[in-house]
Amino acid sequence: MKPVIGVVPLRDEERDSLWILPGYLDGISRAGGLPLVLPLTTEEETLRQISGLCAGFLFTGGQDISPGLYGAEPAPFCGPACAERDRMEGALFSIAVLERGQPALGICRGIQLFNVLLGGTLYQDLAAQFSPGAALHRQKPPYDAPAHGLRLEPGTPLRALLGRDSLAVNSSHHQGIARLAPELEPMARSEDGLIEAVRLKNRPFAWAVQWHPEMALAWESSGQLFAAFVSACRGDCGAMVADIAQGDL
Ligand code: MN
Repeated sequence: MKPVIGVVPLRDEERDSLWILPGYLDGISRAGGLPLVLPLTTEEETLRQISGLCAGFLFTGGQDISPGLYGAEPAPFCGPACAERDRMEGALFSIAVLERGQPALGICRGIQLFNVLLGGTLYQDLAAQFSPGAALHRQKPPYDAPAHGLRLEPGTPLRALLGRDSLAVNSSHHQGIARLAPELEPMARSEDGLIEAVRLKNRPFAWAVQWHPEMALAWESSGQLFAAFVSACRGDCGAMVADIAQGDL
C-alpha cells in the first residue's frame, strides 16, 4: 500500500478556486506515495479525520503569511495573504505535526509557515528588509534552472541525505525567515546567509525548504528529498532518528 499524503491546495482568490501545480503531486507519486489534495477546512473534527486518513502532509507554496501571525503590521511591500490557508494550515499543523508527530514537508510558503507557527518571524520583503547579497531569490523562468547556492549545515540529516555540503537551487520567493523559531534547526543557508532549509527538532520528519523541488523534479536532490519524505510517511524513519540520536549525521 502506498502511503496517502495530504497536499494543501493553492488558492486563487480571483477565480474563487482551489488548484494545484502537478509537480507537487508528481514528486510524491514518483517517490511511491499517493497524493491527495485536501479541502481548506478548519473544522477540527474534519481535520482529525483527515489526519487519520493520511500518513503525512505536504505544505505547499502560495501567498505571503499574514504578518499579524508573527506580531507585525503588514508593510506596503508585503504581498497579499490568504487567511483561509493561514487558518487551515495552522490547525492542520497543530493536530498532525505537533500533536501526532506525523511527517510533514514544507515548500517555500511552507518553511515560512512552520517558522511562524512555531514563534519565528519573517522578512516581509527581502529586497526591502534583508541586506541584499549575491543571491538571486526571485528568479525568472525557467524555474528548473539553479538561481543561487546553498551551504548545507554539517551534522544535519539533510546534508547526510544529499551526501554533499553545497547545493545549487532554484528560488522564487520574496520573503524569508528573519528570526528562527527556537524549535527549528537550520539545515541550509543561502550564499547571502538566509536560512533555506529547516527541520523541527524531536520529530521524526518535519522538514521544510525555501526552494522548489517540485519545479525541478529532474534534479537528483529533488528526488532524494521527496523520497526521504515519502519514506518517513511509510514509517521508515526509525533508522534516521536513531542516527540523529547517536550523532552520526
Ligand atoms: Mn532563495
